Amino acid sequence: MARAVCPPDGLTTELIEATVDNADAYVGALGPTARRALLTVAQGLERATRLRSGIPFSALDPADARVVLDRWRRGPMRPALRLIRDIIVLAHYEVPEVRAAVGYLPDPFVAAKAAQRGERWSADIATHRRLLVAPAPLSPSASRLRVRARESAATAEDPRSHQSRNGVIRPGAEMPSLVECDVVVVGSGAGGGVVAAELAEAGLSVVVLEEGEHHSTESFTTSTLRALQTLYREGGAMTTLGRAPIGYAEGRCVGGGTVVNGGMAFRASESTLSRWATTSGDRTLAGHGLDAHYERVERFLSVGLPDPGSIGRDQDLLRLGAERLGWRVVDDRRNHVHCGGCNVCTWGCPTGAKQSTLVSYLPRALAFGATVWAGCRVDRVLMTGKQAVGVRGHVSGDAGRARVFEARARHVVVCAGAIQTAALLLRSGVQPPSGQLGRNLSVHPGAGVAAVFDEVVEGWKGAHQSLQVREFERDGIILAAVNLPPSLVARSLPLDGAPLGETMTRYNQIVTAGVLVEDTGTGRVRALGRSGAAVTYPVAPADAGRVASGLLRLSEALLAAGAHTVHLPIRGQQPLQSREDVRRASALRFRAPDMDLSTVHLMGTARIGTDPLWAVCDPYGAVHDARGLSVADASLFPGAVGVNPMLTIMALATRVAERIIETW
Ligand SMILES: Cc1cc2nc3c(=O)[nH]c(=O)nc-3n(C[C@H](O)[C@H](O)[C@H](O)COP(=O)(O)OP(=O)(O)OC[C@H]3O[C@@H](n4cnc5c(N)ncnc54)[C@H](O)[C@@H]3O)c2cc1C
Repeated sequence: MARAVCPPDGLTTELIEATVDNADAYVGALGPTARRALLTVAQGLERATRLRSGIPFSALDPADARVVLDRWRRGPMRPALRLIRDIIVLAHYEVPEVRAAVGYLPDPFVAAKAAQRGERWSADIATHRRLLVAPAPLSPSASRLRVRARESAATAEDPRSHQSRNGVIRPGAEMPSLVECDVVVVGSGAGGGVVAAELAEAGLSVVVLEEGEHHSTESFTTSTLRALQTLYREGGAMTTLGRAPIGYAEGRCVGGGTVVNGGMAFRASESTLSRWATTSGDRTLAGHGLDAHYERVERFLSVGLPDPGSIGRDQDLLRLGAERLGWRVVDDRRNHVHCGGCNVCTWGCPTGAKQSTLVSYLPRALAFGATVWAGCRVDRVLMTGKQAVGVRGHVSGDAGRARVFEARARHVVVCAGAIQTAALLLRSGVQPPSGQLGRNLSVHPGAGVAAVFDEVVEGWKGAHQSLQVREFERDGIILAAVNLPPSLVARSLPLDGAPLGETMTRYNQIVTAGVLVEDTGTGRVRALGRSGAAVTYPVAPADAGRVASGLLRLSEALLAAGAHTVHLPIRGQQPLQSREDVRRASALRFRAPDMDLSTVHLMGTARIGTDPLWAVCDPYGAVHDARGLSVADASLFPGAVGVNPMLTIMALATRVAERIIETW
């Protein structure tokens, strides 16, 4: 397979071995279902080829193997075959010599940026660190609670006595079989980090249980492969079920999605919040009702515009194209303390500039005495009748031997993300009266293009994203340039062999850009077996049409900026080379199953609302018809948010924490 899909030029035996080693390592990170599917298809390909031609697939020469692959790609095995092909191409372009051969040399660049940042901005960095650990009570109730906690800690054997000490991030190996606390928080990402810090500051004893491992800023590298294996759930290679599968990725590490996200930090628009206020019955969402919560989050995350020197040429080109067409562009707001523009945000920020919860809210939670347990997966919320009394889980990594633990608490806050939260609550037998738990999943379906320019772009030098084209926001379409490393560009191109190699020699002239669509359709999460989640999502034809329309508009902008060829993620569609090509393509109708759809925004499976027969949680995240049980993550959204969701998740999580404090 590697001989068939990798570019033949210079493909030595050593290079194939390095590719296969990388692929093997990556397959190890996939989930059991994906691994089984890969094995079945690989064996089927081998046997069917032998039956047909007398030679097994693995013994064919590369040209014949490509013919067989093309035939199989037209059949029902296409998705699984595509996964194998994608893994091999990804693995190949992660080999250091191959990265260097296409001109991708990020390590010295990142090292220089990190050093410059440390020298130039040390005062600002220190100021922000101080702000992160300074008291700033969320509400008067938070101050009162804290005083009470201190007083009771001063007396006797109160379990909250550890509040006077700094908490720590501890490995699962040290997890005792029973811990007791005021509040247990499941997950340490956008929602979990906020809740943990706010409740700990208010004086409650907080234990955070995080399934993923703890990886520090110093451990982050520019290796895509390593990051996919260590920081993402199942190698970032999950897909929804349905006629048009959508690839999706979730962070799984201390800091969750905030460690691997791009650092775009937008508020929801007033029109979205007004719509949410109407559908959910929560009038406080409209009329700037969330402003104070947004402001608080923005302060701790240091949200602002990118530093001027950190903007890459790929961003300038998209701006140029959009401006030539007279389209509206907005500057990104990002959560950063002087981002240097290393463009490896999604593999973990190696300078600590991006304010993930790993370097912001979690240090704050620790400073106020919370404990974070890494590598500890929660399997069930423990309920006594309708009252949550704690959680049960196991130390990840040794699920086979299942070293089980329990955390007993007066309040449980589930912040495991829109897929895992729904699966966990369903598995725990939580049944809010609406029957909506796990339903109403929104995903912002999207897709990307690769535009080839004559000039050198080197899109990997500069902030991950610094602007968005918002001309079509009213239609629910946002366009943005997002640089990808060679492995992911090669994976996305509909090319193999020599044509793939030929295009990739121009890696440094390529701008990769994507479309995000505010979806009207919804999907559903179901608990699968003892720990899995099955996600079904039928793509609404109207949403597929808007993805296609977004791709064509994006192509138009990049052609206007000087691109000579734009590769589309649509099966059978030739690359576009002129506005005339775009015009002709606009007359076609593209179907979702023919597009490579993907997402990193998952929302809405435990929506908030005042009516227990419509919503899963009340406006403050408390699960309807349960006591001592709240949700504080992307599940809470009462609809698609239409922009990057992190900031809104964190603002809502702040509100959840505030309510818990006020009613403690
Ligand atoms: C590659 C990528 C890029 C993105 N870019 C942006 C961006 O630029 N801007 C933006 O606004 N959004 C972005 N997002 C989306 C954003 O990061 C997420 O929407 C956000 O992190 C979700 O927050 P959450 O609290 O719902 O879940 P998460 O942040 O995903 O946190 C959930 C945590 O819970 C843990 N967990 C799950 N199940 C269990 C369990 N059973 N027991 C214990 N722990 C568990 C997980 O390991 C994880 O750490 C991006 C996402 C990705 C993946």
